[in-house]
Amino acid sequence: MGAGAFTMTNDERVRYSRHLIMPEVGDEGQRRLKAARVLCIGAGGLGSPAALYLAAAGIGKIGIVDLDDVDLSNLQRQILHGTKDVGRKKLDSARDRLRDINPNIDVAPHECRLSAANAGDIIADYEIVIDGSDNFPTRYLSNDVCVFARKPNIYGAVFRFDGQSAVFAPHLGGPCYRCLFPDPPPPESVPNCAQAGVLGVLPGIIGMIQAIEAIKLILGKGEPLIGRLLHFDALKMKFREFNVRRDPQCPVCGDQPTITAPIDYEQFCRVATDVPAISVQELKRKLDARESIELIDVREPFENEIARIDNARLIPLGELPGRLNELDHESCLVVHCHTGMRSAQAVQLLRGSGFRNVFNLEGGIDRWSDEIDPTVQKY
Ligand SMILES: [Zn+2]
Repeated sequence: MGAGAFTMTNDERVRYSRHLIMPEVGDEGQRRLKAARVLCIGAGGLGSPAALYLAAAGIGKIGIVDLDDVDLSNLQRQILHGTKDVGRKKLDSARDRLRDINPNIDVAPHECRLSAANAGDIIADYEIVIDGSDNFPTRYLSNDVCVFARKPNIYGAVFRFDGQSAVFAPHLGGPCYRCLFPDPPPPESVPNCAQAGVLGVLPGIIGMIQAIEAIKLILGKGEPLIGRLLHFDALKMKFREFNVRRDPQCPVCGDQPTITAPIDYEQFCRVATDVPAISVQELKRKLDARESIELIDVREPFENEIARIDNARLIPLGELPGRLNELDHESCLVVHCHTGMRSAQAVQLLRGSGFRNVFNLEGGIDRWSDEIDPTVQKY
């Protein structure tokens, strides 16, 4: 149904008057917002501010996927819910709060976890997805299903004092989440908010950026966060932007995709990491002892800009086969990536090409930051 079919009452004209007066929104734009259907995955730290502002802005239908109950420890950041809601379903508390803000909108609860079995059906009812999930399985699934369905997936993630956001919509240009983060970390290695902590205000900022991007896409105004990864450091109070490109080799949005239907996380986490490896402690000891080691970073340039280990040489995995002649067969090579998956592939490739003294850095730069050098930026 086009936006033209949606009319506004006098009450709505008053409610949205600050929108209606802006030429970028106006009557047509407000009716577009009313016609829009946005799915929020999660009613937590990111989903809370996103859904609150989307409701206030008059998004006609807001779907929410969540299965959790409100816990007292959620209230430090999940501002959809109040103290009186502790113990209730987040979906119930979210619905009450959003309808209180704006009774003109439709709030659609989806009481489940997003899974390979249900993701396609749920996302089919919406035009835009806001990924407010706090775990990798859901994040990859939301990305993949949105790529299949050619719908924008608005990504947000938070960690302690840092957050990032991007709009993944390969059908409109730019990369998908998997182009940027091809190697999912093994399930047991991933800290969540409970283990790592997060400043309560931080998801507020990132979730609101996600809401703004959704509204811009609906209005067709401005420049969406496509092909750009926006990083926010609350301690330094700095926004940085990284240009990111679609990877033609991407298994989901690439030229020859190998993933063409939703898959559950464990299926693609089972990558061969069974290659000779060294721990971050061992590498630190060797470096401190000034042993001769060539450290190779097989991540993408934008990742190297965010965080790097001193003296590591950047050779993105895709370029490695063509740059073997730059490497010394006699040297001890230690290869690292973000979490150790891509570098394991690199070690396989190098060993297959006759390099014998090659090791994978277990856990990648992520673990280096956790266990050796906390000044190395996590992302
Ligand atoms: Zn991709």
